[in-house]
Amino acid sequence: MNIILLGAPGSGKGTLATRLVDKLNIPHIATGDIFRFNLKNNTELGKLAKSYMDKGELVPDDVTCNMVKDRFQNDDAKEGFILDGFPRTIPQAEELDKILKSMNKKIDYCILVEADDDKIVHRMTGRRVCKNCGEIYHTVTLKPKKDGICDKCGSELIQRDDDKGEVVKDRLKVYHESTAPLIDYYKKQNLVHSVDGFASVDEVVKQALNIIGKWFQLKVTKK
Ligand code: AMP
Repeated sequence: MNIILLGAPGSGKGTLATRLVDKLNIPHIATGDIFRFNLKNNTELGKLAKSYMDKGELVPDDVTCNMVKDRFQNDDAKEGFILDGFPRTIPQAEELDKILKSMNKKIDYCILVEADDDKIVHRMTGRRVCKNCGEIYHTVTLKPKKDGICDKCGSELIQRDDDKGEVVKDRLKVYHESTAPLIDYYKKQNLVHSVDGFASVDEVVKQALNIIGKWFQLKVTKK
């Protein structure tokens, strides 16, 4: 099962992906996470990506596509994958088609996580992340017990640079200009199904599983 999650930054794709991984047993491939991992480890790729990420801009297509191509070679992606944050431009989608074709694979579903910009700005600017374990909080909707401190490990909570107000607005602008056209690209292939990014997490997961339900039941029956 090869799935693309489409939707604006902050629409809830990452949370949905994490829950789908548990159910479907296929890896979550999030290009933003791979870039952040490289940034943290100060690799050449990380250094290159940083200049774009800090401004909320997209990392060049060729760099991103090569990184995803490499990631597909891992054994865990043989049975399928959930792509989150990739493709993000039409050239990336076209390159993905080529990569998959060369591997005899295809996309089965694009799940579009729908969300309004206003709600996204509120969600993202309030997001706080534990510096140590990555646990996510929100200044209004998901407060830690002690202000600024992670409930799980006691480390400091920080705001990701790209969750800051102006950067969020820039990222949404980039989304509407470069990524939203992908919805039509995949609609033409009859692959797009929508879920409500601001329903409860359980509800969003339920909606997504309903979409891919037939395949999921088949797999469970086979086991
Ligand atoms: P994300 O966590 O998916 O919102 O990604 C964080 C940042 O990583 C983005 O603002 C971009 O700078 C970069 N990035 C992630 N995925 C891509 C992609 N597919 N193409 C280009 N840049 C990306």
